[in-house]
Amino acid sequence: MRLPKGFQFSQGSLQDYVDCARRFFLRYVQRLAWPAVESEPILESEHYAQLGEQFHKMIQQHLIGVPAEKISAMITAEELREWWENYLEYYRQQAMANQTQLFPEIILSAPIGNHRLMAKFDLISLQKDGSLVITDWKTARKPPQRIWLERRLQTRVYPYLLSKAGDFLNNNHPIYPEQIRMIYWFANFPDQPEVFSYDRKTMKADQERLEYLVEAIEMGDEKAFHLTDDKKHCQFCVYRSLCGRGIQASNLDTDEESVEDITSFDDRLDIDQIAEIEY
Ligand code: SF4
Repeated sequence: MRLPKGFQFSQGSLQDYVDCARRFFLRYVQRLAWPAVESEPILESEHYAQLGEQFHKMIQQHLIGVPAEKISAMITAEELREWWENYLEYYRQQAMANQTQLFPEIILSAPIGNHRLMAKFDLISLQKDGSLVITDWKTARKPPQRIWLERRLQTRVYPYLLSKAGDFLNNNHPIYPEQIRMIYWFANFPDQPEVFSYDRKTMKADQERLEYLVEAIEMGDEKAFHLTDDKKHCQFCVYRSLCGRGIQASNLDTDEESVEDITSFDDRLDIDQIAEIEY
């Protein structure tokens, strides 16, 4: 498949391909904007997405040196205040101020197939013991299951890219997979972070899988980008009406099966931010 000039793979685009090849085709090859909402109720979902984005920006500001009190003074939404206080407590607990080096909102990329694979990290920290910790701030309303997180392309791509392309964050020394940990921290569930370690064997498996996915995308013709058989992925997809998979978006609050998709929705913020960056 001929991908748009300058196209770079991300965990988001690869996750789209794994969830539904058609969605990848519509979003990244045809670049089709479709006027459907991802979830109901619309205003609440948009409001929640804005809060999530604001929360990420507040943390970034704090980690580059803006005093916490100054940021706190600008908060007007109650939900955001609660997330912020949870974050500040986590920051204190983790003694982040004493860590060797913090790299918020850092972008890494490395070649893959005929393209590049890139990711924007919420935070990478180089610890005093020489280990590197990837922290991803999540504002999901329900904590996802660990097994589901483990399978997400984000959990596969981020440590892989840090080892492949992060030497400059480690004083130009190679980063071995065993040095890396990835933490998902949940603003609504601050005491339930999910931590994933990394190792050579896992990295090798990740590399093989990522190369396999990219090759499948590069080699496939349009017919290969078929609609997913798992209609659960359609519940929060903007292309529902185009694909004949329903008009009404699912409700984030009432749909008990939506836990995973809520997190996808949360991830979408990252994907959109990545898409805005020019190289
Ligand atoms: S509506 Fe369903 S089949 Fe169509 S692109 Fe979205 S996930 Fe794929």
